Amino acid sequence: MLIYTHENPVVVANIQNLLAMAGIEVILKNEFASGGVGELAAVDAWPELWLVNDSQLSKAKTLIADAKRQGQREDWFCPTCKEQNGAAFEICWQCETPFPT
Ligand SMILES: [Zn+2]
Repeated sequence: MLIYTHENPVVVANIQNLLAMAGIEVILKNEFASGGVGELAAVDAWPELWLVNDSQLSKAKTLIADAKRQGQREDWFCPTCKEQNGAAFEICWQCETPFPT
């Protein structure tokens, strides 16, 4: 079943790594659907993480919730172009403005 999706592939990859390290098998779908930096992302093609073994659902959800709580920072909005950027981004993915400090 689908357990996680986010418009930012970096965020999805982080969650995937986290789950993999905990022994939870997931499948990544739509990995390349969002395009690269500077391209418009298709809203209906966010990368998705699908759980292989449904018996691991509660463990996976707990890990994802922990990861969200412990993220270095929240998603941030670019002061220049107002684009929303994932917490993993150091610069705006759209206009390359650095994260405001
Ligand atoms: Zn920007």
